[in-house]
Amino acid sequence: MATGKINVSVDNIFPLIKKFLYSDHEIFLRELVSNATDATLKLKHLVSIGEAKVEYGDPIIEIKADKKGKKLHIIDQGLGMTEEEVKKYINEVAFSGAEEFLDKYKDAEKDTGIIGHFGLGFYSSFMVADKVEIITKSFKDAPAVHWSCDGSPNFSIKEAKKDTHGTEIILHIGENDTEFLEESRISELLRKYNKFMPIPIKFGTRTETLPKPEDAKPEDPAPTQEVDNIINNPNPAWTKKPADLEDEDYKSFYRELYPMQFEEPLFHIHLNVDYPFNLTGILYFPKLTTDLSIQKDRIQLYQNQVFVTDNVEGIVPEFLTMLKGVIDSPDIPLNVSRSYLQADSAVKKISSYITRKVADKLNSLFKNNREDFESKWNDIKIVIEYGMLSEEKFFEKAEKFALYPSVDGNFYTFEELKEKIKDLQTDKDDKLVVLYASDKEAQHSYIEAAKSRGYEVLLLDSPIVGHLLQKMETSNDKLSFARVDADHLDNLIKKEDTQISKLTDEEKDKLKTNIEEVISDKGFTIQMEALDSEAAPFIITEPEFMRRMKE
Ligand code: ADP
Ligand code: MG
Repeated sequence: MATGKINVSVDNIFPLIKKFLYSDHEIFLRELVSNATDATLKLKHLVSIGEAKVEYGDPIIEIKADKKGKKLHIIDQGLGMTEEEVKKYINEVAFSGAEEFLDKYKDAEKDTGIIGHFGLGFYSSFMVADKVEIITKSFKDAPAVHWSCDGSPNFSIKEAKKDTHGTEIILHIGENDTEFLEESRISELLRKYNKFMPIPIKFGTRTETLPKPEDAKPEDPAPTQEVDNIINNPNPAWTKKPADLEDEDYKSFYRELYPMQFEEPLFHIHLNVDYPFNLTGILYFPKLTTDLSIQKDRIQLYQNQVFVTDNVEGIVPEFLTMLKGVIDSPDIPLNVSRSYLQADSAVKKISSYITRKVADKLNSLFKNNREDFESKWNDIKIVIEYGMLSEEKFFEKAEKFALYPSVDGNFYTFEELKEKIKDLQTDKDDKLVVLYASDKEAQHSYIEAAKSRGYEVLLLDSPIVGHLLQKMETSNDKLSFARVDADHLDNLIKKEDTQISKLTDEEKDKLKTNIEEVISDKGFTIQMEALDSEAAPFIITEPEFMRRMKE
């Protein structure tokens, strides 16, 4: 028997990395801007601890497109690299300088917000570029370096002319990827991935109108000036302390997140946890409309202020994917498959934390201002009912604040409802019978008939409430739900004084026989008891279980 070692040649693996590292070519810009951000944040940290003796100032990152020269430049004023460092960090694929930095400056992990992880981001530039150049000068007193590589494993390195610390990456965009030289495409990418990154990002300039001087004539045009076009907000609301934000700040951040969304959110939940995982974010309860275009605005997932995805399936429990807002966590493993995500224990903890926070917020809204909570019920009930159905933990909490509206506009909690109906609405087996209508118009006669006997009728009209009722019946054998048009009147224990019929028993029997002849379907029951009601002389009912089977 012989054993051997599979020989992985760099010549073979390099084109593979280029082609398949990331399924999406466009993320190269996100990666390069992330590296530029890291370089700037590292310098900031080194200056703050006295290891770098340079002025930090107000560094920015600049993106420049040179359409004629087919070049894209990403320029930062960060810590730069010496020749040694270029050889170490750039030439060794899958060696992450970011991880090494965090290892060395352990305490820096939380405050610096450094993004890099895998040591592969830089190479994503070869997905769109035939040739990549780096011109970099370290903040340490060392000569500037010019590194150049055409995508083969061969690179050249020489001294360069550059006076200030920082790095410029030059991408020679390939034939097939010239879209990445278009201003509109670059803007789109920057807006998508970098809108909330922590270092200001400049892309071109824009014209700003200044106030007119005092002595200007009315016909004089307002003066203008060219200013840097900064595409990002480096301090988005979710990175701030809740105590420093007003309600209006949350609303304006919502508009910033979803510029095309005109409806205001109902309320927000600020997430902030640093143990056992790091997570910040703001979730909004939107007014749920049937307008599907609005449902396209989804919760966005960020990692250290870099946009990752708006597909949070597996991270946020499904019933909360109807919410909007942002979640930012460095602890969610990225670039891994969804099925892996669902099994990941950190992700599970995140998911149950979010569920708990949402339940707590709903509970405090209910407790602090019940009237307001009732007025919002119709807009939020779908999320709550869906949550009660799908998450046991949420069900337990939501039982306290989930509301059951009556046809007359009262709102009961489940406890209040039980108290309200316990005297009149029990059946022979001592079960509580909760009556409900699903359509006030169509079931009008039945509702009136029930009301005239003193019964409370709920109005439960959301599409999933039926399933919720089933669940509640299964977990509580002293409880049953019946729609007002079901054959409940026979089952409920009759109270003597509600039986004031205008017909004699004989007359009732005669009328009943006549009607039964007309309605030949055996699935229905004619109930004459309802004669007590003003609204209907008699009612035709169907057993609750029959109707549910047809649904
Ligand atoms: P990661 O960011 O995961 O560490 P990358 O492949 O994106 O991996 O980058 C590799 C390393 O190259 C970085 O960790 C960093 O040390 C160095 N580097 C890349 N871009 C820059 C830059 N603009 N300025 C300084 N160093 C950089
Ligand atoms: Mg990186």
